[in-house]
Amino acid sequence: MQDGTEVTGMVLSSMPVGEADRRVVLLTAELGRISAFARGARKPTSSLVSATRTFAFGKFTVFTGRNSYTLGKADVRDYFEEIVGDVERTAYGCYFAELSGLFSRENADGRAVLSLLYSALRALSRGKMPPALIRRVFELSVLHENGVLPDFSVCSDCGKPYFAGHFLKSRMQAVCTECLPEPAGIPLSRSALYALRFISGTPAEKLFSFTLSEAPMKELSDTADALLDMNLDREPKSLELLSVLGSETSGHN
Ligand SMILES: [Zn+2]
Repeated sequence: MQDGTEVTGMVLSSMPVGEADRRVVLLTAELGRISAFARGARKPTSSLVSATRTFAFGKFTVFTGRNSYTLGKADVRDYFEEIVGDVERTAYGCYFAELSGLFSRENADGRAVLSLLYSALRALSRGKMPPALIRRVFELSVLHENGVLPDFSVCSDCGKPYFAGHFLKSRMQAVCTECLPEPAGIPLSRSALYALRFISGTPAEKLFSFTLSEAPMKELSDTADALLDMNLDREPKSLELLSVLGSETSGHN
């Protein structure tokens, strides 16, 4: 067998295959999103049992096969036990993992999204920031990493810095209240704009560190929903579980 490649990554999803195997989707720093076959990973004695759990983060050795990668060994650094033990946190975590997969590709650098996912799951584990806000910060950051978050630093019409404006879905741009005084699109208050600017300019490990009151939270949520709607072909499946749980202060309606 040829030498494997060691990658840093996280298990986004894990599916039983055949009698004793698993197929995992990994988000890796080096190879982007890959699918890997884990032979015997459901045998209780296998060293891959815990390494193929959703959210397992660490170093994985993968071998290139004919159709997909094969998982050799793994050195897991974090299982995110605090998330797995809680239904609501698990629902959020699964949604973050699904979104990370949707915004990553194979053979593309996966570092930025991996680091966002890791930081979002750490914030979810710590339990200090409301999960609904972690969700919105994560969504907007992933959009930013993919180059599809509009510029909120200056008004797109007059080009000046501003402290109140609107996000126009028809243009996917934000304008200030001086250029557009009447109500339009999604209102953006000073706090919501501050949050949007913070998200565009802050490294992953420092992102999940603020709070937002109800009104700007709604503006942030509505903006994230509009942008995701525009950039995704379908609604992520794991969002259903979140809405069933009903704990979401959602941006819908
Ligand atoms: Zn303006």
